[in-house]
Amino acid sequence: MDFNFTPEEEKFREKVRAFLDANLPRDWGSDDFEMPDELAGRAFYIDWHRRLYANGLVGMSWPREYGGQGASPVEQAILNEELARRRAPGPLGGIGLALAGPTIIVHGTEAQKKRYLPKILSGEEKWCQLFSEPNAGSDLASLRTRAELKGDEFVVNGQKTWTSGARTSQFGILLARTDQSAPKHRGISYFIVDMKSPGITIKPLRQITGESHFNEIFMDDLRVPRENLVGKLNDGWHVANTTLANERGTGALALLVRFGTQYQELVDAARIALRHGRPAVADPVVRQRLAEYYIDLQRLKYNVYRGFSAVIKGGKPGPEGSIQKLLWSELSQKIQEFAVELQGPGAQLAFKEPRAMAGGYHQRLFLRSRADTIYAGTSEIQRNIIAQRVLGLPRTH
Ligand SMILES: Cc1cc2nc3c(=O)[nH]c(=O)nc-3n(C[C@H](O)[C@H](O)[C@H](O)COP(=O)(O)OP(=O)(O)OC[C@H]3O[C@@H](n4cnc5c(N)ncnc54)[C@H](O)[C@@H]3O)c2cc1C
Repeated sequence: MDFNFTPEEEKFREKVRAFLDANLPRDWGSDDFEMPDELAGRAFYIDWHRRLYANGLVGMSWPREYGGQGASPVEQAILNEELARRRAPGPLGGIGLALAGPTIIVHGTEAQKKRYLPKILSGEEKWCQLFSEPNAGSDLASLRTRAELKGDEFVVNGQKTWTSGARTSQFGILLARTDQSAPKHRGISYFIVDMKSPGITIKPLRQITGESHFNEIFMDDLRVPRENLVGKLNDGWHVANTTLANERGTGALALLVRFGTQYQELVDAARIALRHGRPAVADPVVRQRLAEYYIDLQRLKYNVYRGFSAVIKGGKPGPEGSIQKLLWSELSQKIQEFAVELQGPGAQLAFKEPRAMAGGYHQRLFLRSRADTIYAGTSEIQRNIIAQRVLGLPRTH
């Protein structure tokens, strides 16, 4: 891979930097900056999305005819890198932008592209992902939600779970079984569902951090118009693989900067925390751990470059995204576990507790990071994919 950027790409980087200078609040990212309260924070993020969109910085690599910029993946990567470098928020509506949109671009009808893509970009419509079920997570193809074609509508019955952001979404991407007699991967179809339709009940689930970001979804005689089928009938597994590959593989360059920041925050924590009466960062065992995670970070970096280079040449993320997913999710947990360990008994002080080190910031991230090795495919599943589809090893069962 060529690590240099072209003069045009460097010019684009300057444009992004100028945008950030002009639009981010003046003390953004400094210790003095505080989001006033939850509601004002929400208004800020909506306004931020609008500014990104107005400047052509949302869904940049999407086709122009549906509101994108037709930009190269390198420009998208530069944008991600610059946002992350300033710790600036990305656009809203991650599932629409990262999963539903790219899938509709590849498999959707012209009418679907025209109807849904522009409003994902403008942030007017949010999306959620209705894939996992109580007995179908890692083995997603064993899902049991059924969709039966009756006239011009599919009638859907079943249950989904762990659906992130369902209560604030207008649409969902749904996998349902449309042929009971076919082998399990061949009888599934992929749909767009209006989340406000009668027949959908949403129940929030409480997470370890205290938040209720994800939900259970019950579908009772939910009616989905025939034109909301994405791809061919019973070919939903093929369509879903586009969604899943995007879930694992995209945004990796932004992740690199995110973990670079998290690593730096860990070093800061080691400077503040004490060990044997001295800053922990002076302890040889602590230094060894910091060096180990730095090496992990470099490992992640070169794997991301390799994957990114393949996307530029081949145009779509492949199973190698599993290597990146495995590396970043496990590094994320190691960094947060160590940041908590460094605090000794003080680690028991929770997030927002005034006497907690850094306001309990690492305690919260530690709890949140437990999910990293589960969503977008667990670590065991990533290892299976790497073994079978990257290394070409035989199945053992
Ligand atoms: C924060 C978060 C957000 C999520 N958001 C969404 C969402 O928006 N939409 C959605 O559809 N889903 C979502 N999920 C669900 C997520 O995709 C599943 O949790 C994940 O796929 C694992 O499935 P499961 O929870 O059913 O675990 P299971 O599949 O039951 O796995 C249990 C354990 O068995 C292991 N295991 C299973 N099969 C194998 C195997 N073949 N070989 C080796 N080990 C195996 C797993 O690695 C795991 O350790 C979210 C999950 C989390 C944590």
